[in-house]
Amino acid sequence: MKRFRPFLVVVSALCVFGSFNLQAADKKPDRQVAITIDDLPAGGANWMLAAPAITEMTTKLLTTLRDQKVPAVGFVNEKKLYRQGEVDERIHALKMWLDYGFELGNHTYSHSSLNKVGLKAWEDDVIQGENVTSLLLAEHKMKLRYFRHPYLDVGRDLLTRREAEAFLVGRGYRIAPVTLDAWDWAYAGVYEDAKKRGDTAAQDELVKGYLSYSDAMFAYSEQLAKQTIGYEPKQILLLHANQLEADHIGELLDLFRKRGYRFITLEDALSDQAYSLPDTYVGEEGTGWLDHWAITQGKPPQGAPVFPQAVFDKWQALQPTQP
Ligand SMILES: [Zn+2]
Repeated sequence: MKRFRPFLVVVSALCVFGSFNLQAADKKPDRQVAITIDDLPAGGANWMLAAPAITEMTTKLLTTLRDQKVPAVGFVNEKKLYRQGEVDERIHALKMWLDYGFELGNHTYSHSSLNKVGLKAWEDDVIQGENVTSLLLAEHKMKLRYFRHPYLDVGRDLLTRREAEAFLVGRGYRIAPVTLDAWDWAYAGVYEDAKKRGDTAAQDELVKGYLSYSDAMFAYSEQLAKQTIGYEPKQILLLHANQLEADHIGELLDLFRKRGYRFITLEDALSDQAYSLPDTYVGEEGTGWLDHWAITQGKPPQGAPVFPQAVFDKWQALQPTQP
């Protein structure tokens, strides 16, 4: 889950898309994307979804991905496993990812932000997040090898960022960057509420909005990549484990195919030289790696599609009040 960050610049979007459309029409690039899914066993597992709903969501999501031969890595917050009376079923939902042929990575135990809790506490949270996941992986003769930063928060200063990275490498991790992100968690929160209420019209509207925002975000990101690093890298998409994706990921996969994408493993994506480019990004707010590269070059990105305020407001109204 990401925090809300108001987009700063909107006006140049049309100009950017306009000028690049002509070039895009000449040649259809061979686009590739790896799918990563965060906040397992489920984004809403802390308070909204009980174990049977988590199992149902997981089954649906993984069945579509497996049937369409789309690889994926799921990133786990083990804290969400510990709900009284549901521990076994919640662990079983994680195990399903491996049984279906997918991979699991670490997303810290409690989804803590490196920018908030301090390096030492954050490192402890990484270690605490390994227990169950590494056991499950070992049962499948696999090792825990991928890490995703919660909120994409990589540190507020470069020393912290580099120390955290060295710590992760020392524990055998490869960091999983993100280049495509359409904030599905916000749509999903509102969708799950509409689903609970049986409001199918609201669900349909949210799905339509989500797919349309995704399409705009992917187009923007493809152009930003070309402007920043000169080509479209093997992209890495950030999704979250939720009912919106479980019910509709097939439509998202179709959208990718329409844009000329094929689906690759995270390991394949990480072989792209883009992921070795200079990257000195630090900041209060986590963001994707296309932004990292652009900001490192001294060219802060402009013209990102604006996230619909109405969806965000509804999402915010649904959050439990902090104790
Ligand atoms: Zn997350």
